[in-house]
Amino acid sequence: PPPILDVRDLVKHYPIRSGPLGRGGVVRAVDGVSFHIPRGHTVGLVGESGSGKSTTARLANRLVEPTSGQVLFDGEDLLAKRGRQLKALRARMQMIFQDPYGSLNPRMTVLDIVGEPLEVHGVAKGRSRVARVIELLETVGLSGRDLYRFPHQFSGGQAQRIGIARALATNPDVIFCDESVSALDVSVQAQILNLLKRLQGELGLSYLFIAHDLNVVRYMADELCVMYMGEIVERGDSDAVFAEPKHPYTQLLLAAIPGHDPATARGKERAVARGEVPSPSDPPSGCRFHTRCPFAFDRCRTQAPVLRSEPGGERAAACHLLDADGEEGTR
Ligand code: SF4
Ligand code: MG
Repeated sequence: PPPILDVRDLVKHYPIRSGPLGRGGVVRAVDGVSFHIPRGHTVGLVGESGSGKSTTARLANRLVEPTSGQVLFDGEDLLAKRGRQLKALRARMQMIFQDPYGSLNPRMTVLDIVGEPLEVHGVAKGRSRVARVIELLETVGLSGRDLYRFPHQFSGGQAQRIGIARALATNPDVIFCDESVSALDVSVQAQILNLLKRLQGELGLSYLFIAHDLNVVRYMADELCVMYMGEIVERGDSDAVFAEPKHPYTQLLLAAIPGHDPATARGKERAVARGEVPSPSDPPSGCRFHTRCPFAFDRCRTQAPVLRSEPGGERAAACHLLDADGEEGTR
């Protein structure tokens, strides 16, 4: 079967209006991103804030229109859909947001919050809608007693359960989780993550899972995509990437996890990032990471590395050090 979601060369450039300094241009929020989610799998998206993770998710489910690229959802061309066809595909993709309170209408009861998508997508109304909402609440560990309560009457974890029940209402195939547990206490985080895992097993869900907490991503993801300045710089089986990151940027991200000691291509040599993330409206030439990379050499400043798959392998990284002829990478 085709992957449930197949994203090809997605680009989102935002024009910048010319200001008093007379400089226009574009912000390259997402710049040629490709990945796919096999059915029932979780793909984790990591990278510093501003790397384009959230925009990538919003392009992949077309909450934001891409500048170019392709999104195949269950083999269908999402970007070519209009009207009812688009609505029908949208029902099969849902999001769970970071702030459980902010994403739930404070003036709506749980019945209306969870029941709304059932109405919008014509799944159920009247008494069958109430019955379905109760079923959804029970699926996420709440109950029919909660039907007429309001979001502020719930704890953060419970409120996130309401958001999950709402996301499940239309029987989606893919759920986009953008920092879905970041606002919760650690013990509550674990409960929600376990709930998401259980639901994945029971309902065959696929997740695109975004989190800045790498331990959370590690727990959830089968495959990992690492983003830097709008590009994927490394991709592969999650355990393999955590065990042996290939790209200097990934090495640096993982080295920052307390207690985690990944084997790097450079042995004990620790990658330490220097400086700030450059402006996405003016990305560095060559490898965008070269201004911060401890291993940068001449070619890095002029030539952009391509995301190359290893022969026969599922892993890929975009770094000149990994090119077959990258020997001059030895500093
Ligand atoms: Fe560092 Fe060069 Fe590799 Fe970029 S291509 S990550 S600058 S070594
Ligand atoms: Mg974000």
